[in-house]
Amino acid sequence: MKIRSELFIGGEWVAGTATLPVQDPALGETITEVAVAGERECAQAVDAAAAALGPWAARAPRERAEILRRAYELMTDEADEIARLIVRENGKVFADAKSEVVYAAEFFRWFAEEAVRIKGDYRLAPGGDKRIIVTHQPIGVSLLITPWNFPAAMATRKIGPALAAGCSVVLKPATETPLTALAIADVLARAGVPGGVVNVVVAAPTAQRVREMLHDPRVTNLSFTGSTEVGRVLLHEAADQVVRTLMELGGNAPFLVLADADVRAAVAGAMVAKLRNGGAACTAANRFYVHGSVADEFTAEFARAMAALKVGSGLDPANQIGSLVSTTERGKVADLVDQAVGAGARPVTGGTILDGPGAFYPPTVLAGIAPDADILDVEIFGPVAPIVVFDSDDEAVARANATPYGLISYVYTGDFRRGLQIAERLDSGMVALNRGVLSDPAAPFGGFKQSGLGREGGFDGIHEFLETKYIAADI
Ligand code: NAD
Repeated sequence: MKIRSELFIGGEWVAGTATLPVQDPALGETITEVAVAGERECAQAVDAAAAALGPWAARAPRERAEILRRAYELMTDEADEIARLIVRENGKVFADAKSEVVYAAEFFRWFAEEAVRIKGDYRLAPGGDKRIIVTHQPIGVSLLITPWNFPAAMATRKIGPALAAGCSVVLKPATETPLTALAIADVLARAGVPGGVVNVVVAAPTAQRVREMLHDPRVTNLSFTGSTEVGRVLLHEAADQVVRTLMELGGNAPFLVLADADVRAAVAGAMVAKLRNGGAACTAANRFYVHGSVADEFTAEFARAMAALKVGSGLDPANQIGSLVSTTERGKVADLVDQAVGAGARPVTGGTILDGPGAFYPPTVLAGIAPDADILDVEIFGPVAPIVVFDSDDEAVARANATPYGLISYVYTGDFRRGLQIAERLDSGMVALNRGVLSDPAAPFGGFKQSGLGREGGFDGIHEFLETKYIAADI
């Protein structure tokens, strides 16, 4: 697979105003220089999207579906190559990258199936004076902004529904991981997406370029995945033109192990929930609340499993934990652990930066965490698991909910009914019950509180790219 490093605008690969190095965080080496879009190129991308919108929206839904289906097939066929590219620019291990590509491709398949099922409504008004007709139409040119942690899946989770709905898009990927987004643009072009329907710009300086695009009146929709901090800034920016926004923001997931849980299953679930993507996931279990009666057993087993993992280059299949995306990100993780240890936490395994090059951090389990410890208030975004002991279900739920975030919660219990009752009381958009992973393109993904607005995937996802129109008819 040829690594694409130009901008993708109007169906053409074009140069930018400058270039930026893309780093391999495991080796600390530059993979390539990627083209950077300035004001002119970003405006050209919006021009191209605006010009492509009408013809794309007018295509039969079945035709849009078939193009998306071809993109799913191509991405599936080329999964290994795309996964290797993700490993190189992101640092995660190949197995994680491969499952990301499979998951990412599924958004094209799911939304290919949804493209032909956009429903309307036709009925007699209650007063009998008119017909109420409700229909949906594409919202228009959509600006998509994605983070570095899932460079393929976060892009397809937006592009899939946008294209299914009949929208055109400008995708601005994270500066750390632009190559995967460009590879996906290449897949889409080969699948038959017409020029201008999908445009990809690595824009810099980011805040300024995004602000300009959001103030272009032709951009009517913003779909953002990233931190709550940046999401908040973009909500302010979007307010000026009253641009519709979808926000998939940060998380601080609690992982509850109740007294009656199968501890072995809970440890297996904790490993997945904590370590998917090396802990750099918005869904990553961040705070482990374990009942006192099982806390020692859970902590010992979890620490044993974490300590057994091999850390190293994501391209070596012997390794289970890869590199963080940069030494800056690793520094943030290390600082959190050092502060927690300074405040009395006890590292049962891990806890110190590994020697040698690359942004590696060892799997770490921290016991003796006070319920009000600072480390419980922030997204850790690395392979670090702080454990807090609790006494009652009410206490566990209260602690789990004591955060401004509300993306996902995990619950382990031997009693399904008790688990469901707790799931209903947790303030999060998603709850994994006796499971360490839940993401599925067929299910609505999104958060409560400061974890976001709106839902991606499932039956809701396409509606983020549709306007609702009511026609009153005198017939
Ligand atoms: P980030 O917020 O720093 O960046 C996300 C994107 O926004 C990138 O493309 C970045 O270039 C861009 N950006 C940064 N500053 C900007 C500004 N001022 N104006 C416009 N664009 C700007 O996030 P990140 O570090 O790339 O990703 C990690 C964060 O993403 C975590 O908080 C994680 O929880 C969150 N995340 C959420 C989900 C979800 O679905 N809820 C999924 C993945 C990641």
